[in-house]
Amino acid sequence: MKKEVFLCAISNISSGSCHEDCGFCTQSAKHHADIQRYRYKDIKTIIQEAKEAKANGAVGFCLVTSGKELDDKKLDFVCEVAKAVKNEVKNLNLIACNGLANLEQLRTLKEAGVLLYNHNLESSQNYYKNLCKTHSWEERYQTCLDVKKAGLKLVCGGIFGLGESAEDRTSFLQTIKELDPFTTPLNFFHPNPALPIKAEPMDEDEALEIIRYARTILPQTRLMVAGGREITFKTKQSQIFDAGANSIVIGNYLTTKGALATRDIEMIKKAGYEIAKPCNV
Ligand code: SF4
Repeated sequence: MKKEVFLCAISNISSGSCHEDCGFCTQSAKHHADIQRYRYKDIKTIIQEAKEAKANGAVGFCLVTSGKELDDKKLDFVCEVAKAVKNEVKNLNLIACNGLANLEQLRTLKEAGVLLYNHNLESSQNYYKNLCKTHSWEERYQTCLDVKKAGLKLVCGGIFGLGESAEDRTSFLQTIKELDPFTTPLNFFHPNPALPIKAEPMDEDEALEIIRYARTILPQTRLMVAGGREITFKTKQSQIFDAGANSIVIGNYLTTKGALATRDIEMIKKAGYEIAKPCNV
């Protein structure tokens, strides 16, 4: 595999106040976490963020909304944002991440210029019911199938460090393999006192082992280390690439701050990797 790292930035274009109860997510209204909440981010601000992401070398820009699923209003907003960003910022692949979605909604996103859809399975089919009781893993799986049917590229991964077993990790990664996504985000739990899940950040060596394991199961997939990178890997962040990751999220996450993009780029280069050039996914 070429020694290059793909950078992706995310924008939380509609934050918080979600009615679901996902135990790892500060955007659930049920957990009352101290986060910023807003219905829709201003489109000019989103365009500015996209320009900054591009200037920092990002090849992808992800439009994320909180909540279980797409509805008509949210779909209209995401499409409006996608068209505006596409118009203003060239060579930046647009990803949408808006929860459960049906085939028709996904096709509408594609027509608006979205190339990829991110919908994470989060964990194994068996373990997911311990993480969320307000919707099912099976509904999530169906959306993943529909993403591909709609002609979008699938971005599908999950989150580790929630008390899942080694068997759960294997089962989860095997399902991902069957779905054959273009990119798999690997998130690592970022504790917050408001959350019902009380786990500590995962040990960095255990987390590196997860990346190695994911790479053996998913040899061709773009493996992205996403949320929880800084708090989990600490001084060993540069080792994630030798372990098999070839993509990271730069800038801020949904509700937590990330490192400065310039620091991450320096870290990647020091580790002996190049920043991947903008491309058509
Ligand atoms: S993960 Fe998504 S559906 Fe679950 S609480 Fe967070 S925003 Fe809501």
